[in-house]
Amino acid sequence: MFGYSAFRGRQEEIISHVIRGNHALIIMPTGGGKSLCFQIPAIVRRGVGIVVSPLIALMKDQVDGLRQLGIRAAYLNSSLSHHERLAVERSLRAGVLDLLYVAPERLMTPAFFDRIGDFSPALFAIDEAHCIAQWGHDFRPEYLELTRLRDRFPDVPCIAVTATADVATQREVRSRLDIPESGLFITGFDRPNIRYRVETQTNQKKRLARFIDSEYPREAGIVYCLSRKKVDRTAAWLASRGHMALPYHAGLTQRERQQNQERFLHDECVIIVATIAFGMGIDKPNVRFVAHLSLPRSIEAYYQETGRAGRDGLLADAWMSYGLGDITTMRHIVESSEADERYRRIERHKLDALVGWCESTVCRRKMLLNYFGEPYEGPCNRCDNCLKPVEEWDGTVPAMKVMSAIKRTGERFGAGHVIDVLLGNETDKILRYHHECLPTFGVGTELSSAAWRGVIRQLVAANLLQVDVEGYGSLMLTDESLAVLRGSRKVSLRRVRKTKRRAKTKKTRTVRVYDASTDRDLFEVLRNLRLEISRKQGVPPYAVFNDRTLIEMATARPRTLKAFGELHGVGEVKLRRYGRRFLDAMRKYDG
Ligand code: ADP
Ligand code: ZN
Repeated sequence: MFGYSAFRGRQEEIISHVIRGNHALIIMPTGGGKSLCFQIPAIVRRGVGIVVSPLIALMKDQVDGLRQLGIRAAYLNSSLSHHERLAVERSLRAGVLDLLYVAPERLMTPAFFDRIGDFSPALFAIDEAHCIAQWGHDFRPEYLELTRLRDRFPDVPCIAVTATADVATQREVRSRLDIPESGLFITGFDRPNIRYRVETQTNQKKRLARFIDSEYPREAGIVYCLSRKKVDRTAAWLASRGHMALPYHAGLTQRERQQNQERFLHDECVIIVATIAFGMGIDKPNVRFVAHLSLPRSIEAYYQETGRAGRDGLLADAWMSYGLGDITTMRHIVESSEADERYRRIERHKLDALVGWCESTVCRRKMLLNYFGEPYEGPCNRCDNCLKPVEEWDGTVPAMKVMSAIKRTGERFGAGHVIDVLLGNETDKILRYHHECLPTFGVGTELSSAAWRGVIRQLVAANLLQVDVEGYGSLMLTDESLAVLRGSRKVSLRRVRKTKRRAKTKKTRTVRVYDASTDRDLFEVLRNLRLEISRKQGVPPYAVFNDRTLIEMATARPRTLKAFGELHGVGEVKLRRYGRRFLDAMRKYDG
């Protein structure tokens, strides 16, 4: 039915466990393949599998996707008309459904709850199961009610799935749903197909364009910015360069937002430029990149946002560009928040952890996973630090020079002026303040202006300098700076090595998006055919075939239905439905 050649990770083990009638709590990262773990048992076991999901907006797409595979699925939520609801209830009673997606509040209405038994449930799958824990049901009170399902149907397998659950949450979910320890399945947090890259240079917009143009010229992606103004400017600018870029932020009307999101899901190659308000519950599998033009709040936020890339398992990129200004802005946001000191302290730590990650010289994946408590040694060979090794150098003397220049100029000037002092530039401002007479004037010619900027950014990141955000961005010393000035603290800085070390070749499971033998023109032809078909049916293109299937098609060039059926993601029903049309398109393309 699904057209996959093998199970992924622990899927097979979990599926057998559930088919045998056991309960399970499954924790897998986004894109890990959680759905299959309850979909297959629901199909295999007698009766209908009931999937509880709070993401109403996603239900239609999920059900459409299943129907494309020939699986008998339906959903019940507030978006259905009375008529549609009755039709679903009829097929439920007739016992002709494999899977029913339902919103928790609908499931727990007495009228429905009392009749569940009549539908002979094959299993209950609870999506976003972390909502059952204490902190989760603050947002989703109806989730707590779900525990009644377990009392009423003790023998029906209950499968709780989530992508986020720390140890305490796991324990709580298991105890509320009475899932034994043997039913706990955790796979790691790693997203092996995502590459991580952090750039610190200026000229952000140009670098973003270069990244997109050279690596993902015709793909869908998300670009995150902090402010609405920056969102609008960036979207307009990308659009002027020929990209289909659309803004998404709270300043747009509900209708505009909905339209832009719809285009993102149902069209090809749309780039959404958004504030963090975008992304909740987006499960478009072929998002090829997530770019950050502003610093997120924390590593958790960063990981969640970048996790929206590459759910289909194909190579994807998390690309970030940040500078001194971002650290300053984010620190200012934290410090000026209304929250109490305890909360601010936590936020400060989280931001510092993220900034430390940005500035680190070790494998980024290692740091991310270790942050989430998962052992991982690296090198991953899929992050900038592994691929373009950075070296640490002793920056104590440059740090002292910067600090001295700052102190001598009265802690009243920004980075530009301080660098002019270090480089000995006789600008008007220097002459006006007689800074050419300072002993630090011109003592820093061993580094370029850009290199000094890097030094200052790293010192701010490490809290060895601070920026006065209320005033004019003046650089100031901190308590820690004094230790450096006194010579009792060393400063280690990072620098990207000029010469490229050859990356250690290590076989990885990642499928490249395209390889040399992929016929890109043919791929475009097939993608257009897919779009045409999906538009006619009102489903997103990836519900017809995912990108990997199209790429395999444009690479392997099957000529017979039998060969077509071997492609990734082509099950029996899709073969019957679309095989001919795609084969014809390929034949026509060959002329
Ligand atoms: P999540 O864990 O985020 O719910 P999904 O269940 O949506 O992940 O799966 C992510 C993607 O991986 C989907 O496109 C799905 O079709 C695909 N997938 C899942 N299992 C397999 C498999 N065994 N082989 C190939 N692709 C798979
Ligand atoms: Zn790495």
